Amino acid sequence: MRRPMVAGNWKMHGTRASVAELIEGLANLALPGGVVDVAVFPPSLHVSLVVDCLEGQSISVGAQNCAHQAGQGALTGEVSSTQLADAGCKFVLVGHSERRQIMGESNEVLNRKFEAVQAAGLTPILCIGETLEERKAGKTLEVVGQQLDSIIEELGIGAFVNAVVAYEPVWAIGTGLTASPEQAQEVHAAIRAQLMKENSEVAQGVRLLYGGSVKAANAVELFGMPDIDGGLIGGASLNADEFGAIIRAAGN
Ligand code: PEP
Repeated sequence: MRRPMVAGNWKMHGTRASVAELIEGLANLALPGGVVDVAVFPPSLHVSLVVDCLEGQSISVGAQNCAHQAGQGALTGEVSSTQLADAGCKFVLVGHSERRQIMGESNEVLNRKFEAVQAAGLTPILCIGETLEERKAGKTLEVVGQQLDSIIEELGIGAFVNAVVAYEPVWAIGTGLTASPEQAQEVHAAIRAQLMKENSEVAQGVRLLYGGSVKAANAVELFGMPDIDGGLIGGASLNADEFGAIIRAAGN
């Protein structure tokens, strides 16, 4: 039985003041006890603040990105997974589409980041998904399959024992368009089947999150699908009440 997870990606949003306000809102939420794992992903700058403010709450903190190597070193401007672990992070997003597309991160770089996250004892959340053009061309499963295969080939199926996968169609991120529950389930089932070919036990245990304009209004239907184990939430995670309603949907 996979425990659902709801993760809130704050992207490049927030000031110290607005982050404190959001955390206060999260701390006041009536969340389903012990049935959903909840994590928030502030900008790296605010990680320590959020870790401190959430002390004693059942909400984990993750980072949106990390350097392609663990430890410390001469990498100006980067933050390593080891430093994020030291700051209290539990998860790191790897391969969010904004990093693949805007920052030009390749599968090769992401393989190294995924490895660096695990080397620091953290859990990577691997984000994969197709663009609208790729979907229209009927290439969704091929594209998602290649993104997943890159990690399997490089690091082996064992790497998924401590990992989460987020299917995020690029056309649904921040656009207000959401994949229908059936569209999302089709891709999630294909992802699990691909992992299953390597190792069924690992495949059955991996949590597959859906991301792309999830709101309280569509969460129940999406999370009701058999291979959708929760969500990676962008915009709606900046509103504590809306995020709380999404978490409750995952707990039902
Ligand atoms: C995201 O940033 O991962 C995301 C899914 O954003 P949104 O929910 O705003 O579409």
